[in-house]
Amino acid sequence: MNETTFALKGTICFSESPTKLSVTENGYLVCENGVSAGVFTELPEKYQGIPCRDTNGCLIIPGLTDLHLHAPQYCFRATGMDLELLDWLNTITFPQESRYADLEYAKAAYSIFAEDMKKSATTRASIFATLHVAGTELLMDLMEETGLKTLIGKVNMDRNGPPTLQEESAGASARDTVTWLEETAGRYQNVKPILTPRFTPSCTDELMTKLAEIQQKYHLPVQSHLSENFGEIAWVKELCPNTRFYGEAYDQFGMFGGPDCPTIMAHCVHCPDEEIALMKERGVYVAHCSQSNTNLSSGIAPVRRYLDEGLHVGLGSDIAGGTTVSLLRAMADSVQTSKLRWRLVDDSQKPLSLEEVFYMATQGGGSFFGKVGSFDAGYEFDAVILDDANLPHPQPLTPKERLERLVYLSDDRNITGKYVSGNKIF
Ligand SMILES: [Zn+2]
Repeated sequence: MNETTFALKGTICFSESPTKLSVTENGYLVCENGVSAGVFTELPEKYQGIPCRDTNGCLIIPGLTDLHLHAPQYCFRATGMDLELLDWLNTITFPQESRYADLEYAKAAYSIFAEDMKKSATTRASIFATLHVAGTELLMDLMEETGLKTLIGKVNMDRNGPPTLQEESAGASARDTVTWLEETAGRYQNVKPILTPRFTPSCTDELMTKLAEIQQKYHLPVQSHLSENFGEIAWVKELCPNTRFYGEAYDQFGMFGGPDCPTIMAHCVHCPDEEIALMKERGVYVAHCSQSNTNLSSGIAPVRRYLDEGLHVGLGSDIAGGTTVSLLRAMADSVQTSKLRWRLVDDSQKPLSLEEVFYMATQGGGSFFGKVGSFDAGYEFDAVILDDANLPHPQPLTPKERLERLVYLSDDRNITGKYVSGNKIF
């Protein structure tokens, strides 16, 4: 038997479907060569004698996927939270991101980010860096060492930024992007590049045309922002008078999903019907960032509708529109805002359940990375151990109640183990 074959013993929870949890108490989760061999109530004959980590009844869940966050914003999270999106970008975010031209600063800030990501329940993430090539490569080096599997993008922005945070031309932005891709090609096991036009207001048509060529040449996935906030949407309409809706501003350049362009769009709070139809047709992933949408007064995304219509939906912490990398917290936030939406906006759209947000945080977003987010046989072995022994209770709790408590209390101190593709992180 291969040495990367082992078992975890505990209370194993994963999504059987978007609305149903699979729970096995005192079960065995077997990892064979980095891949799940399944969950068993008794260790099968062929696995007798493999190393087994007994968690003493801890919950064992699939690793969580963060579909949207900005690494350079981590160091100023939880400040400036009284602003709306565009003011927040101009007064706080852009000046702060300018600092990543300084590699010493970038190293100090990104080291803190990488360390906290390592300790979190996140095993996969799609991350924005800044427009700086050297800083982005440094972030990739640091994230590689964490063992997490991440997509990281050098940001493109050639208009509407401050002088300190704007590329000098579309040509310069495209050249830097190619330099970054060539310099990092083949350098990493865990980190891959993702093309990252910041959002339509930051990218000229000339730049988008060049990025589309790069996307095709290097077969890159794409991440950006979509229909987040009323001010932003009105601005896109002004900038792109030829488009019927925001998504077309990406789609006209061929960067809005489809089989050759896997795409994550963050937020999708105020998408018109045609935009939703196009996202569905192209398989665009929605990164639902509930806390950010609350902090920046953006609104509440119609996630129930996205789920009903069969769109791909995962969760994003959206650091630093969101204030924490905890996807446990993102699950709780998503339930809470869906209740407000149901109460205040549309009572025909029922709130999200624990099962549904758990699915979005695991398989929903994980599927962007392949067979990720489940313990069914054949899925990559991403697992997180949650120990709730420090949360005593006199009454008996079911595994689902224990999971819900850990989600709502979302305390990193309860995370006591993590594996990515079978590799032990801690
Ligand atoms: Zn964002």
